[in-house]
Amino acid sequence: MAKLKVATTSLGGCFGCHMSFLDIDERIVDLAEVIEFDRSPFTDIKHCSEIVDIGLIEGGVCNSENVHTLREFRKSCKILVAIGACAINGGLPAMRNFVPLEECLAEAYLTGEGLENPQVPNDIELPLLLDKVHPIHELVKVDYFLPGCPPSANAFWKFLTDLAAGKKPALPYELVHYD
Ligand code: SF4
Repeated sequence: MAKLKVATTSLGGCFGCHMSFLDIDERIVDLAEVIEFDRSPFTDIKHCSEIVDIGLIEGGVCNSENVHTLREFRKSCKILVAIGACAINGGLPAMRNFVPLEECLAEAYLTGEGLENPQVPNDIELPLLLDKVHPIHELVKVDYFLPGCPPSANAFWKFLTDLAAGKKPALPYELVHYD
């Protein structure tokens, strides 16, 4: 049987969800029997293959590059999964939505303590920040949500092994949490 292709990315995330995924520890050897990684921080693949079975998205949408990446994943992935609080509802980074973006930038780059040569970075290579942080479902259709900050390794394991077995993922109560 062909292995499932799995792509992963971190948008406005902290990589904690990826770290929690790796907390499945030696079970990753068993998982490697049924899945292979496509575009992911775990690989050196820069763009999604034309057809990917599962896309795991960590992090909310904070800047223009996040928008491009998310659209690429949605275009390629048959099943797109919002992983963790940030992807599901914006998470802690969405607390900046209560403060005008100009004030955030000013505090970070112009008026904060201990700044030398204060200036807001404006190199054309840098992705522009969006006015607000968005959960991914506000931009693309999402097929599943895996909650937690981060979801536990056991939740990742159950979710992915269910999908690999051709079943609809079903998490028992004790694996569902939002903190
Ligand atoms: S949900 Fe939590 S662990 Fe995952 S990226 Fe966001 S802050 Fe990090």
